[in-house]
Amino acid sequence: MKVKRADKYGFCSGVRIADLKVRRFAGQGGRGAILGQVVHNERVVEDLERLGVRTVHAIEEVREPVIVFSAHGVPASFHEKAKAQGLEILDTTCKFVYDIHREARRSLEAGAHLVFIGDPKHREVIGYTHDLDPSSYHIIQSVEQARSVDWSRYGAIKVLYQTTLNAEEYEEVVRVIEAAQPGTSRADTVCYATKENQDAARRLAEDPEVDLILVVGGRHSANTRHLYEICHPLKRSHLIQGAADLDREWFLEVTGVGITAGASTPDYVIEEVEERLRDMAGEEDLPFELVVPPDSRHRPR
Ligand code: SF4
Repeated sequence: MKVKRADKYGFCSGVRIADLKVRRFAGQGGRGAILGQVVHNERVVEDLERLGVRTVHAIEEVREPVIVFSAHGVPASFHEKAKAQGLEILDTTCKFVYDIHREARRSLEAGAHLVFIGDPKHREVIGYTHDLDPSSYHIIQSVEQARSVDWSRYGAIKVLYQTTLNAEEYEEVVRVIEAAQPGTSRADTVCYATKENQDAARRLAEDPEVDLILVVGGRHSANTRHLYEICHPLKRSHLIQGAADLDREWFLEVTGVGITAGASTPDYVIEEVEERLRDMAGEEDLPFELVVPPDSRHRPR
């Protein structure tokens, strides 16, 4: 059995660094609470709770000495509120998210109206907009929404994207705004980590050596499901949460297995799946080879 990992999969660099910072803090005996899940993966949440860092949903709920802000970032006022409550802050906000906070501030100071392309309920977008005067920005998700606003009222407009969006899907939305207000400019704020995972999953599914694909990720992870939807039409694919979901029947007459994973899937869950495959091959006296692309953990922006 030959098992190949996609050349890009799993945690993006921002979440990888955030996860490391929290684990290092917990490993040194730190006691803290994370505001919102670090990633949408129950295993990670449970692991961190076991290490002494539980998840809370409001600053008021924190009883520990330290509050952790996740990679998605928070509004500046949350920092003030946490400090006023006497909390220390472990800030794991991704540097690309901070770039957008800075760009938004600069654009507002230059007199622009802000348009965030994204989901108003997403924590990252709440981080950008929570503290702003509501008349200074819009959050737009669809062409219909874009058409419903009179953009000519604004002298200049700055368009910023939620980092995990596929900008191509929103091209029409931005064009509506640009057509109505020529003083519109875009900030290139899309992070390519998600798209890289998707492109790599497609390459894996097209690999003639791969007969079957395992997509590893949380049941409620939208980006994991998206990877499955990419792979499924090309190769027989199974969406699993971890090694316990593997079914020996799937691998009858299979010699090449491809593995990809959603952006909220930690490495150790992927490694457990590979170990289980190694064991299954061993039990059948089959040779086992694991192919890991050399730069699989490197995600340049
Ligand atoms: S901006 Fe990109 S690298 Fe940073 S947390 Fe979001 S997806 Fe990850």
